[in-house]
Amino acid sequence: MVHLNNGDEMKKWALVTGASSGIGESFTRLLAAEGFNLVLVARDEVRLNERAAGLKSKYGADSIVLVADLATESGCAKVEDFIANNEVEVLINNAGFGINKAFTMSDLAKEEEVLKVLVRTPMRLMHVALPKMKERNSGIVINVSSVAGFIAGGAYSASKAYLTVLSESLNTELSATKVKVSALCPGFTRTEFHQRGRMKMAGLPQFMWLNSDALVAKAWKDALAGKPVSIPGWQYKVLVGIISSVPRSLVRRVGMNLRVKQR
Ligand code: NAP
Repeated sequence: MVHLNNGDEMKKWALVTGASSGIGESFTRLLAAEGFNLVLVARDEVRLNERAAGLKSKYGADSIVLVADLATESGCAKVEDFIANNEVEVLINNAGFGINKAFTMSDLAKEEEVLKVLVRTPMRLMHVALPKMKERNSGIVINVSSVAGFIAGGAYSASKAYLTVLSESLNTELSATKVKVSALCPGFTRTEFHQRGRMKMAGLPQFMWLNSDALVAKAWKDALAGKPVSIPGWQYKVLVGIISSVPRSLVRRVGMNLRVKQR
């Protein structure tokens, strides 16, 4: 077990994938402030070690760095093994990236990478974590999905729809227990996501941008309250309300145009 003994206090462990930047990094600071030790997962070892040092100096939290490329079988298996052999109280499935090329013009390898990082990995990590949480009758899983999952905007959208629907199903399946599963569905959030995906964002109105720390605080509150889906920000609550009340044919038509184009 990785329970560390910090004086009288036994801190529990939270595992965050994509902990090196953006929404994942916000989660690591929130969870450290909430009294958890952290397991930090991503590919960039240098950045993860910097994050670990920051969490120690600011919050006194211990961190374990797990360098893993979640698009690979070995990277996914490494994190799975860690969860299987340790007591992880909080799992944040957050690692991800955007793809916005038309399906008929995209690389098959890139399409498969989307499935491996956004779909296969969170599914497998939950498959190992949730039975243990159920047995302990304690644990929280937050899957970082997207409002894109509510529209029909290509492979990214489809992957996020999978994650939201699976989260909702698991929330119901575990409703008689104290294990909580929630999908966080952010709208446009200021992180490295759009720059990494070479997306054109100049035209997006200011009010549509969300702050990563604020949305993570809201997601945590919603998960603790047992909500299956968390949609931070009034603008995205309105948008999702509209999407669910207009005919799906309109959502399909507009959805493809809502996709962010590449630079
Ligand atoms: P970000 O700043 O680019 O962070 C992405 C994180 O995922 C990084 O820590 C990155 O770390 C990690 N990652 C990417 N590919 C990985 C891989 N193959 N293996 C392991 N780690 C990987 O973007 P973000 O906005 O915080 O994205 C986090 C999540 O939020 C994603 O699932 C995204 O789909 C979702 N989301 C974002 C927005 C938005 O507008 N920003 C909106 C809705 C949903 P390394 O590069 O070090 O591996």
